[in-house]
Amino acid sequence: MNSREFKIAVVPGDGIGMEITEQALKILNKISKKYHTKFNYVNLKVGGCSIDAYGEALTEETLKKCRECDALFLGAIGGPKWDNFLGDKRPEKALLTLRSELGLYANLRPTKVFDELKSASPLKDSLLENGIDILVVRELIGGIYFGKRGTVIEDGIEKAYDTESYTLEEVERIAHVAFESAMKRRKKVTSIDKANVLDSSRLWRKVVTEVSKEYPKVQLNHMYIDNAAMQLVRDPSQFDVILTNNIFGDILSDEASMLTGSIGMLASWSVGKGTYGMYEPIHGSAPDIAGKNIANPLAQILSAAMMLDYSFNMTEAAKDIENAVKNVLRKGYRTVDIWIEGMINVGTKEMGELVLEEI
Ligand code: NAD
Repeated sequence: MNSREFKIAVVPGDGIGMEITEQALKILNKISKKYHTKFNYVNLKVGGCSIDAYGEALTEETLKKCRECDALFLGAIGGPKWDNFLGDKRPEKALLTLRSELGLYANLRPTKVFDELKSASPLKDSLLENGIDILVVRELIGGIYFGKRGTVIEDGIEKAYDTESYTLEEVERIAHVAFESAMKRRKKVTSIDKANVLDSSRLWRKVVTEVSKEYPKVQLNHMYIDNAAMQLVRDPSQFDVILTNNIFGDILSDEASMLTGSIGMLASWSVGKGTYGMYEPIHGSAPDIAGKNIANPLAQILSAAMMLDYSFNMTEAAKDIENAVKNVLRKGYRTVDIWIEGMINVGTKEMGELVLEEI
């Protein structure tokens, strides 16, 4: 087998970021040996830890180093220590800058219920019978999170505003990601908007409908965001690919994650042009449990699997990790967020070790 090499920007971040990334790197090191592939890690600080070290959440030098790598592997960013920083100085803003500077306009979040974790889902068994296997495709570097905003005093009254806006091209490129993803899945796209109220949503709907004509094998339906939020818990099996904008995707993907039992189980990746991707768990830095060795590292471990699959074309190695996670769950090991009566409670490090043993 030929030996290959990849350069990975490793950004553990804040809170539980460090703990869960440490576990995922152990797995990557074993994969490296097993699949004769060298991973060169470039350790970088972004977020609160970067403010502490360099006075800003994302430095030019860090951004440059991220660009020079083949992929970016991120833990989580932010925490109460830096909550007093305002606007552009906040750690979370660094994440938005990172995504936009790297041109990562599509965020893909698969939501699948592991058979072994069905009992951890808050949904009734009858709603899980047909399975949940959803891919949320969220636009990541446009919309209200990047639109014009401000706080002003008008006629003596304090007022704040944020602007939702999309260009035709921005909608077009994310729509293609959704339809292409659907072609590899069950060939259904549900595009979610608020076209009954918002102009930006009417443009969204028009462009998505137009793009759909290039994918005649994919069935497209449109749904309003309020209905979608309800349908996700009423009948989640109706969804295959959900295509939506930045803010609706942010909210819906967290809702979808809970259907699977825990936010600590779900990985995501963000892509633009080419194979460069940013891989991260969907949860935040969980300051309430940081440093206690109780965080679930599986979302971060599954993010590593995604990186192998999508950026490095190491599909077999990715499957190896996914199967290892399934085996550990099948044997009854659970971190506290997914623990139920009768299962064996383990900590962050122990969960990492157990997955490692299965590879
Ligand atoms: P959060 O996702 O950090 O935590 C929400 C809840 O889920 C908490 O009770 C937490 O303990 C639990 N949780 C999260 N991940 C877990 C895991 N792996 N295992 C077990 N339990 C887990 O969201 P939050 O509390 O709203 O935000 C905390 C900080 O994280 C904030 O500063 C926020 O801005 C930041 N944040 C960062 C990202 C990111 O880096 N991508 C995403 C969301 C929030």
